[in-house]
Amino acid sequence: MIILKTDRELEYMRKAGRAVAQILHEMIQRVAPGVSTGELDRFAELRCKELGVIPVFKGYQGFPASVCISVNDEVVHGIPSNKRILKKGDIVGIDFGVSYEGWYGDSARTVAVGQVSSEAEKLMKVTLESLLKGIDQCRDGNRVFDIGHAVQNHAEAQGFSVVREFVGHGIGRALHEDPQVPNYGPKGKGPQLKAGMVLAIEPMINAGKAGVRVLSDGWTAVTADRSLSAHFEHTVAILPTGPEILTAWPAD
Ligand code: MG
Ligand code: MG
Repeated sequence: MIILKTDRELEYMRKAGRAVAQILHEMIQRVAPGVSTGELDRFAELRCKELGVIPVFKGYQGFPASVCISVNDEVVHGIPSNKRILKKGDIVGIDFGVSYEGWYGDSARTVAVGQVSSEAEKLMKVTLESLLKGIDQCRDGNRVFDIGHAVQNHAEAQGFSVVREFVGHGIGRALHEDPQVPNYGPKGKGPQLKAGMVLAIEPMINAGKAGVRVLSDGWTAVTADRSLSAHFEHTVAILPTGPEILTAWPAD
């Protein structure tokens, strides 16, 4: 069942979304060679306390940290660690969610650590563009697969591949609600989109083949061919006038 949100409920979701975007922005400003992913996680927890929001990944199905930080060939669900030190040339995907008064927001960005390869630059650019093309399909009367179709078309036209094992999702009083929002699929299919729906759109795009596997920590998903992967996500409300990004990132 897809839950529609009222205008009043959307106000809470805007607040959750703004906190996610702000803390994500502040984490990204701290990304540099020599910084550990564990430090970024602790910083996010501290900022949640200061802003009066709850980090929602910690403990979610047993996830051990407040942020998912996935480096290079890691696709999603990387576990922050003091031993994981970022170095020049890495790309780092930071995925973060909070709740405010019981309402959720969820967003992710992938950024460069110093200078990175031209392939890595292109992968990040195309993944962000794919997200924006997916968001543009978040319109009353469209269908869920119109979103994935737009993402897939753009990513594959640039020679990249779309991860199938993880998908976007409805979001509201829970981190994951109906519907699932795949990043691939046939135009014109799936449940109809309606004003009042809120969706987390989150393409995960690989430089090589689409396959992924999960490491022995039970969480970290990596590309099966060890190629680079990028991930961008926004929480998006469908309004009668079109999509509104609830997690719009401050300018870097
Ligand atoms: Mg996320
Ligand atoms: Mg999500």
